[in-house]
Amino acid sequence: MSKLKEYLQDPFLQRLYSEIREAGPLRSISVDLTHDCNLRCTGCYFFEEGMDSIDVPIEKDFDDFIEREKSRGTNFVTIVGGEPSLVIHRIKKIYDNFKTNVATNGLIKIPFEGLENLPIGISIWGKRETDSALRGNGKQDLFGKALENYRNDPRAFWYYTVAPGYVSEIEEVVKTCIENGNSVLFNYYSDLTNSGGDLNHERGFQEVKKEIDRMIERYPGKILMTPFFNEVIADGNLLGEKWGYDVCTNLSTNYSGNSERLENGSPFNPHFRAYNADFKSTRRCCTGIDRDCDSCFDTWEHFSWVLVNTKKHLNSLENFTNWLTTMYLFYYINRMVGKGRPILAEIQQYLNERRLVGSVQ
Ligand code: SF4
Ligand code: SF4
Repeated sequence: MSKLKEYLQDPFLQRLYSEIREAGPLRSISVDLTHDCNLRCTGCYFFEEGMDSIDVPIEKDFDDFIEREKSRGTNFVTIVGGEPSLVIHRIKKIYDNFKTNVATNGLIKIPFEGLENLPIGISIWGKRETDSALRGNGKQDLFGKALENYRNDPRAFWYYTVAPGYVSEIEEVVKTCIENGNSVLFNYYSDLTNSGGDLNHERGFQEVKKEIDRMIERYPGKILMTPFFNEVIADGNLLGEKWGYDVCTNLSTNYSGNSERLENGSPFNPHFRAYNADFKSTRRCCTGIDRDCDSCFDTWEHFSWVLVNTKKHLNSLENFTNWLTTMYLFYYINRMVGKGRPILAEIQQYLNERRLVGSVQ
């Protein structure tokens, strides 16, 4: 019996695996839907790397882009930016043609009608005062506005970026988001403007990791993380492999600067391209042009790292379980599995019972 068949004797794992199979494999890309944003957050990679200087497209360029990607077989589009809610008609066109998710700052509500199953990740960087200071010059209550826009919206989850010095805020923020009727996915702050102090990612995320683990335990079913996945990102370690450009899996495969990496033998997502807002050119990766990879703690990129490394996780039931639950989490966040069921709480309980609270090797 193959290892996979052996592991899938477990009915719970079989159930997760079948749901993913039914949803089907993903051929994914990312796209900046616009150059514009109604904010200028401290350390935003988009403006730090001058990605707003790309040519402004006309609408036909966008329609052509959709047709090209459909013919290429793309079936999943991560919408980033700029601020996508400034071009809702483009979100709708992507939604009508692909599976998708969108990242927004939450200031403009993305309408429900016609976009009922759109996964919406709303950025938040801390409690109201912190978030306002880092993203709104201390003048706007961005968090309050986004809470109002997405109260009890089943599509919405908070994409909460935590810096090393802001651990003490985590519980208050999480509680506020959950009381608003939403769930929470964590991200880890990169200090791209060298602000230092509490924002300095070089301090490491060990305290952040501990607090996120506590939140997973405290709010089962509401935190879109597992302890394993939390550890992978915070430690930059996947079964002994160290995170970085050489193993990064979400790289534009048509971008000449990546050719050496793509030939180094480490697995990668063969379909992936990160499109700029001209809808034609691509860049090295979704989160940067020539950004230092040591500053990259992006949750979505780490999802891909785990997901693409299937084989690595087949050597033990523990590793397979960690891989499968991370895969399921990704599909769940993107509203492709587990609809209307408290499956996340069941997963947390399953992992707890097996004491799968960290990376196994
Ligand atoms: S809302 Fe997003 S795109 Fe706009 S400045 Fe902030 S991080 Fe950058
Ligand atoms: S910045 Fe992150 S996603 Fe981009 S190439 Fe480096 S490690 Fe990969």
